[in-house]
Amino acid sequence: MPIRLYDTARQEIVPFEPPRLVRMYVCGITPYDSTHLGHAATYLAYDVLIRRLEELGHEVSLVRNVTDVDDSILPKARQLGVNYLELADAEMARFRSDMEALGMRPPVAEPRATEAVPQIIDLVEKLLAAGHAYRADGSVYFDVSTFPAYGALSRLSREEMVRIAAERGGRPDDPAKRHPLDFTLWQRSAPDEPAWDAPFGPGRPGWHIECSAMVLAAHGPTLDLHGGGTDLIFPHHESEIAQSTSITGQPLARHWMHSAMVAYEGEKMSKSLGNLVFVSDLLKVADPRAIRLALLRHHYRAGFEWFDTDLDEGRALLRRLMAAAARGTGGVSAIGAGAAKGCASDPAFGGGADPRPFAERVREALDDDLDVPRALDALDDLASAILSGGDHRDAPAELIDLARLVGVDLTVAARTE
Ligand SMILES: [Zn+2]
Repeated sequence: MPIRLYDTARQEIVPFEPPRLVRMYVCGITPYDSTHLGHAATYLAYDVLIRRLEELGHEVSLVRNVTDVDDSILPKARQLGVNYLELADAEMARFRSDMEALGMRPPVAEPRATEAVPQIIDLVEKLLAAGHAYRADGSVYFDVSTFPAYGALSRLSREEMVRIAAERGGRPDDPAKRHPLDFTLWQRSAPDEPAWDAPFGPGRPGWHIECSAMVLAAHGPTLDLHGGGTDLIFPHHESEIAQSTSITGQPLARHWMHSAMVAYEGEKMSKSLGNLVFVSDLLKVADPRAIRLALLRHHYRAGFEWFDTDLDEGRALLRRLMAAAARGTGGVSAIGAGAAKGCASDPAFGGGADPRPFAERVREALDDDLDVPRALDALDDLASAILSGGDHRDAPAELIDLARLVGVDLTVAARTE
């Protein structure tokens, strides 16, 4: 049975059957502020998916971009009085260290927008030549009237798209645009902003075009899976599709996976509300595995509110799993090649901890639209069975292996908190 995953484009759970080499692209961060729990929750979903795909024999090539020039990093750099690339470098270093601490495996490539400018210019030129884009007032815009499928991914009405575009910086009332939903491919830079020479005038890239250019450069016209947070469905991913498909004539992705947003104690977690929970702050007070487990207790498609008590539940689960895993290290070694196999059929080991049904439950849950909370329940049940005296020598080693599937290493000593 293949993994089944919800596809945003089809709006249903479908079998996800990629080739052996899975070409995956997940939209990355704009490095102007620290990694918050929303980032962590998003990237964790893909991290667990990748682990399960690898177990099934796939090789996953994950590319995650870095938006190191856009409308949010430039004002922040100006405000701090630093060069925007220095700000990007510093924040990328912090992001990588937060992600690594949470046990997230790095992507195979992290292309930066500023390094992809030649590919971006090339794509804009092609869009202009093909009549999908126009120049106005020193900028270049995508003409959505040339792409009738605009809106097919998000399934939003024109009115909803205009409203959301306005909320997300799309400036539908820009007088240079022919249509309010037309979006910027290239924009004239303000006097103190970076600018690149281009055949259509000096300026800097729009946001959406960088991902189209990077996907094409890294993986070719069609991805096996494209991901990001649900806030990227419109306008970002809708616009990526319009740009890419207009040039390649191919679908941009065979499967679209989006992870839901995280709120904090009753309110949307956002920069403007000043209620962001930063991973680096949690790392000061908690074992990274407890943070990881606390986040993974929520399904990737269910938006959730983070409460400070979530961390306690993550800690408690980690303690139970570690205590059960430690049962394998005393007496007969159950970890590694020496582990005894086949005890389940032996009546002497017929206690409550035959790990196989639990392992099946874990994998079944992961394959059912990445239901990590249910997988964690199965792990927790296996731990309880081990701790309540189920005398199966394989069980702790199996628990350790299964926990690795969700990215938790139970063989590392607990951090003193
Ligand atoms: Zn993107």
